[in-house]
Amino acid sequence: MSDLSKQPLRSTLEHIGELESDVSSTIRNLARIPYPRIRFNLEIAGKNYKAGLDAVRRVLTEYLLTRAQQFATLPQPGTGKTQTVDEILRKYWGRQLNMSYHIAEGFRTNFALEAGANIPFELYFLVFDIFKEFNFEETLVFRPADQFKSETFEETILEPLDSILQVGKQTILPGTLEQPPVPRDLRTEIQLKPANAIWYVSGEAHNPILWPLIIHESFHLLDNRLGLFQEMESLMGSTKKLPVLDPAKIEQVNKKWSKEIFQDIAAVHYFGPMYAFSLMNYFERLPYIRSVEHPEMSSRLYAVNKYLQTAHSQHTDYLTRALSFCKPLITRELARYEQSGELSDEVKTELDMFYDAVASWLRSRRITLFTDRLARYVAQGSRAREMVDKQIIDRVPYVDPIFTFDEVVDLVFTKKVSLALDPTLLLNVVLAVSDKYTPQGYSERLVDCMYKCRVKQAWDLALSSIKA
Ligand SMILES: [Zn+2]
Repeated sequence: MSDLSKQPLRSTLEHIGELESDVSSTIRNLARIPYPRIRFNLEIAGKNYKAGLDAVRRVLTEYLLTRAQQFATLPQPGTGKTQTVDEILRKYWGRQLNMSYHIAEGFRTNFALEAGANIPFELYFLVFDIFKEFNFEETLVFRPADQFKSETFEETILEPLDSILQVGKQTILPGTLEQPPVPRDLRTEIQLKPANAIWYVSGEAHNPILWPLIIHESFHLLDNRLGLFQEMESLMGSTKKLPVLDPAKIEQVNKKWSKEIFQDIAAVHYFGPMYAFSLMNYFERLPYIRSVEHPEMSSRLYAVNKYLQTAHSQHTDYLTRALSFCKPLITRELARYEQSGELSDEVKTELDMFYDAVASWLRSRRITLFTDRLARYVAQGSRAREMVDKQIIDRVPYVDPIFTFDEVVDLVFTKKVSLALDPTLLLNVVLAVSDKYTPQGYSERLVDCMYKCRVKQAWDLALSSIKA
């Protein structure tokens, strides 16, 4: 008998130990990340993965191995012989052992991806800014993947573990009259800190045209945690119903589709008109298909187009210029859907009603939407003159004068100046000239602008706390 069979699962358990030290060393290496807040968020994710790995070990030792050892002492019906622990593990729990290996590897892989993500760190702050609007403080990490998606750490860690435990519960060993001991509920035992991951398409991390889609995922995430959709639904009252986009589909499918359009409407109001362009662009790159999760593209574009048709602001020309760029593109696309009969009048009526409901929920939430950010920018910028006049420029936060749309384009693309402009304002300007300039080639400059904006915000905050 080899050593290995005297110590069942030894190699697997040893490997889980290796994975744990891998995660620990990745946590130590986070020190290279210049942003304490991002570092802290990743550290919490790492600790969650360590808790997950510990749980895999406990499933193997405390649950499967202990049970196998108990059954190994029982004589088999008919033969009266006993079985070895190894035989029992292989015969009855081979699948669970195999799954646990993959789950443990998956935890380590996820964390390595998150900690080494190639996404610009500044994009984290796009999400943190929305979190702040909802007073939401849970952990966030970005995970490079093959699609955009949001996921809670309960889904990342507990769901795969549940799948082992569920299968384990159903196994009743032959020759035993007793029911197998029910495994303890690991869900309540694993101490997970509330955390969330936003998946982003890894190959598009440096393509600014798709950055606005992160806003859509942020709303998904907040909806998951705070029940935003439900809140909106209850605000609709009993007289109005969620849109039925396809009467042939069951209610749950139509509801899922409504949720998707809900995120789109929230995202376009929050981010601004260029979200519509981003959405259309993504689904040209990744040919769109309707699924249980995602309604027809025509419905989504129709809903965001309603924003383009109704949005207005007197502040600067950013909104009007961005609208004049993307409205014709979306209108042309919608006309195609109408001609092909894909977008019917019935669907349009349903979406019109729904759009109004979501828009009024957004207003009731009093979050800072794109047009509010424009107003704030103009209000701050108009103080630039006053500061020069009063010669108090070194005693107040630094303020740029208000730049027009063309001035921003000229400064960023021609004069190569990184402006400390709010990222959503900046992107609504620069993406609207993406036919002339290739933002992909400019992603570093845009990141630099975003970085400067963060520095300015930190500076403002520091000064205002001194004054207070
Ligand atoms: Zn979505």
